[in-house]
Amino acid sequence: MQPRKTRKIRIGKLVIGGDSPIAVQSMAATQTQDLTATARQIEVLEKAKADVIRIAVDSEKDVEALKELRKKFPDSTWSVDLQENYKLAPIVAPWVDKIRYNPGHLFHLEKEKSIREKVEFIVEAARKNNCAIRIGVNCGSVDPDYKERYKDDSTESMVRCAVDHCEMLDEMKFENYCVSLKDSDSTKVIDANRRFAAERPEVPLHLGVTEAGLPPEGVIKTRIAFEQLISAGIGDTIRVSLTLPNDDKGQEIDVGREILTDIAEGRFRSVPENFLEGLNIIACPSCSRVENDKFVDLAQDVRKMTEYAEKYKLTIAVMGCRVNGPGETDDADLGMWCGPSHVNLKKGTETLGSFSYDEILHQLKKEIDQMILEKFGELEPKFGELEPK
Ligand code: SF4
Repeated sequence: MQPRKTRKIRIGKLVIGGDSPIAVQSMAATQTQDLTATARQIEVLEKAKADVIRIAVDSEKDVEALKELRKKFPDSTWSVDLQENYKLAPIVAPWVDKIRYNPGHLFHLEKEKSIREKVEFIVEAARKNNCAIRIGVNCGSVDPDYKERYKDDSTESMVRCAVDHCEMLDEMKFENYCVSLKDSDSTKVIDANRRFAAERPEVPLHLGVTEAGLPPEGVIKTRIAFEQLISAGIGDTIRVSLTLPNDDKGQEIDVGREILTDIAEGRFRSVPENFLEGLNIIACPSCSRVENDKFVDLAQDVRKMTEYAEKYKLTIAVMGCRVNGPGETDDADLGMWCGPSHVNLKKGTETLGSFSYDEILHQLKKEIDQMILEKFGELEPKFGELEPK
């Protein structure tokens, strides 16, 4: 284990960075305004001893819901995800300990304002309320300017964007921040965090493989990245993003702690020789944006139905919402994202249509069979031979 070189920052009562223990975080996957479900979700995560719980806030009504929840959980350490609505920062900051903003989402609102002005607005809200900030860069929503500038190196587009935002915060004399660089591909997570840490070794990093998917594959993908990074002294907080029913979300914390203990004790799990050489299923961990609870079942059914195609090197993505789903499925051979009553299906960048939850597995099966024929010239299994369950 190499020592970490990061500076310490404060998230409420929690200190991360430097020689502080690596904190384990998770996120409430419920609609924030559903107070009963969200309180239940927070209880599940607190019982699992989450160090930080992230809650999504998309509207003023979500902020009102969060205030209500705060009364019930006055001592919990909370991070809030601003999603597209950076304007909520001043009204939400008094109730939370950390604000996460995604640089790739800042251009949505008030296009006449510069990104710097918007960052300044968030920083002032955080400063006034003693909040930490996370600059959260995500592969599926990289700022379009950086995407364009680094067309041939998607990892570099993420790193450059993060480094530039750090410089902005430095110029604003705000130090209480950390950074995350997430991708669904473990090797890109390793690469991005290594490149960033080489340039800004003092900035604390939050690690995660986004859309790692269902256990056990999601756990293995995460472990690959964490073993490489944490043993090299990179990573101050972690999240294991798994596609799980809400009541089982505590597993994200349990798995995170198990991985940290194994690394600290030198128990590195070797990855199966042919891991991800065949079919790769990516699935998001779900959050407040999921509009139909059938999403987790669908992800599980997709994995079961596709077992017959395990040997083919194909990537299938299943995402929980219509906001990030289209972007997050861009790199998959076949991508799906869920709406309230329908699931959208695309092949590469071509949209194939939207199908009911009852129809989608059948359509997906047809497309997989066709793709096996086109890409691998094989007719095995015969087209339509295996019907989805
Ligand atoms: S894809 Fe949508 S539902 Fe899934 S975690 Fe991302 S924002 Fe939430």
